Amino acid sequence: MNHPAPTPGTSTVSATTVLRLTGVSLHLGSDQQQVTALDHVDLAVEPGEFVAVTGPSGSGKSSLLAVAGGLQSATQGTIHVAGVDLTTLKEHQRTAHRRRHIGYVFQHANLFAALTAREQLLLTAHIAGRLDHETRRRANDLLDAVGMTARADHRPDRLSGGERQRVGIARALLLAPEVLLVDEPTSALDRTRARDIVDLLAEQTRVHRTATVMVTHDHEILDAADRVLTLRDGRLN
Ligand code: ADP
Ligand code: MG
Repeated sequence: MNHPAPTPGTSTVSATTVLRLTGVSLHLGSDQQQVTALDHVDLAVEPGEFVAVTGPSGSGKSSLLAVAGGLQSATQGTIHVAGVDLTTLKEHQRTAHRRRHIGYVFQHANLFAALTAREQLLLTAHIAGRLDHETRRRANDLLDAVGMTARADHRPDRLSGGERQRVGIARALLLAPEVLLVDEPTSALDRTRARDIVDLLAEQTRVHRTATVMVTHDHEILDAADRVLTLRDGRLN
């Protein structure tokens, strides 16, 4: 994988930084009613680092991940993922780059209605051209790790919110992405399950040297992170 070093003088973060947001702002809404969802955000995450971002509802948590993952264009600033500035890519290039380097856990799972839990994972592997024996085995292992083995052949309409959430997490972990972006992973889970899931995220981050950002307003899971940052009105501290 090609990870160009940062241009000398532009940054003090190390060349291994796999996710780096610099001066990122996001304005949403109409000109009359503009919302500043992100306000000059700087963030650098190293391989193997688990960063948690907390903050009240509406503070910009989902916006931060959407912009970091190239799902939403920033109004201002640069977003480097695996050495490439997303803001310089055309949409189809950004999509390809995202599929190759980023695992994304959506706040509301975003599963395909027609596919079973297991098929959600296998489709991701198929799209990436990695539907081999090893990946199938890892899919089963991850479904097991999130407690979904018994329900792996059910479609989303037969799953609870928490079960859908856990499938979304297993899917994002499947290809051991370099960057993992996780939006409120425990919002639909009970305490025991929440602990299991956040421990799994921490373990996978460590084992696969993933740069992980988890946004959450669940303070009971923050201890799993290496670093905890706070968003307030779009400002990250
Ligand atoms: P969080 O995930 O922390 O709850 P969000 O990132 O979803 O926060 O939202 C940040 C701010 O941006 C909030 O004030 C929200 O109302 C606003 N916002 C989100 N999406 C839109 C949109 N499409 N249009 C206008 N404002 C939006
Ligand atoms: Mg949110």
